[in-house]
Amino acid sequence: MRAKRLPAVFVGHEIYRQAAYGSNHPLAIPRVAPVMDLCRALGWLGPGEFQASPRASERELAWFHTGDYVDALRRATEAGVVDIETRERYRLGTMENPLFPGVFERAATSVGGSIRAAELALEGRIAYHPAGGTHHGRPDRAAGFCYFNDPVFAILALLKGGCERVLYVDLDAHHGDGVQDAFADDPRVWTISIHEQGRWPNTGALADVGAGRACNLPVPRGFKDAELGVLLDGVLLPLADRIEPQAVVLTCGADALAGDPLCSMALTNVALWSAVERLADLAPAAVVLGGGGYNPWTVTRYWTGLWGRLSGRKIPTSLPAEARAILAWLRSDLVDDEDVREAWLTTLADAPNDAPTRDEIRRLRDAALAQVDRAAWRQPALAVDLDGGAAR
Ligand SMILES: [Zn+2]
Repeated sequence: MRAKRLPAVFVGHEIYRQAAYGSNHPLAIPRVAPVMDLCRALGWLGPGEFQASPRASERELAWFHTGDYVDALRRATEAGVVDIETRERYRLGTMENPLFPGVFERAATSVGGSIRAAELALEGRIAYHPAGGTHHGRPDRAAGFCYFNDPVFAILALLKGGCERVLYVDLDAHHGDGVQDAFADDPRVWTISIHEQGRWPNTGALADVGAGRACNLPVPRGFKDAELGVLLDGVLLPLADRIEPQAVVLTCGADALAGDPLCSMALTNVALWSAVERLADLAPAAVVLGGGGYNPWTVTRYWTGLWGRLSGRKIPTSLPAEARAILAWLRSDLVDDEDVREAWLTTLADAPNDAPTRDEIRRLRDAALAQVDRAAWRQPALAVDLDGGAAR
């Protein structure tokens, strides 16, 4: 369990305030900037609690991405256009992964932020980097709104820092495919993803265990709090116990919340805050990232409250005027005005949802446990102990 930790730290950057992704993209909405603003309005970013994210260098980007892809994204950003070959080869300048001014700098900043977050986690602080969580990025191409894969860099930085057992848990509504695949052959990394079944990228089936160290939990529409509790207590925490991770990296996409316009999971932010806290407590080093999320009100409330909980604040039952003004300023083309709930403008914490657990969730839990590769989900035994004695 968690040793006494140093205070949590919020890694952010003003670059996320700039318009991005073009006006017709689901990620055109403001996400990280209103979280920073709301945290400040609540007095939750005191001295020493905020660190500006550095931008990853080309040398750092090469830890995971190919040089020709990094070059292609930089050149496309400078030119503002791509040729057909670049578009097809690197999936850049598409509807999914559009070019916009500063896309290279923005993507490299979120990588730099995740590396910095890992360094801070190694110092014993919970490092919160809500601009992170671009879990679909591939070594040699963009995918699913993700240009680079910053969670991969957080994990690589933890490994470079000496960690030998890193657990990645992905609570975004979409499968964390890019991260799972990145570490398929690395025996120091285990991955667990809870995601909505039948969603893009249509990977992460229950039977997909990668090389043995991956666990995928595809859940049906309407996935609610009690059901998350069943998977947390029944699968995630027992699996974590088996490997005793030295570090955890958590992707906390807000598209798993009720009210997201692109997904159909139905969690409350309160359930997710508690789940993230429990997962962050599993290891001495914890990196907490953002991810997807396409309803600006539910994203902002989730990620602001998550920082509040991680930094030891009490969540207010009602927001002060300055905080309400930030929520009132948000706009979205994907959420109809009449669907904007009053609570999204005046509170942080969602009302409880106490729907019972469906049988299919219990079956999912049991099936996931039954197929766990017990040799892969355990601490690697030391071949020889320090006295040269038998393996343990
Ligand atoms: Zn997502």
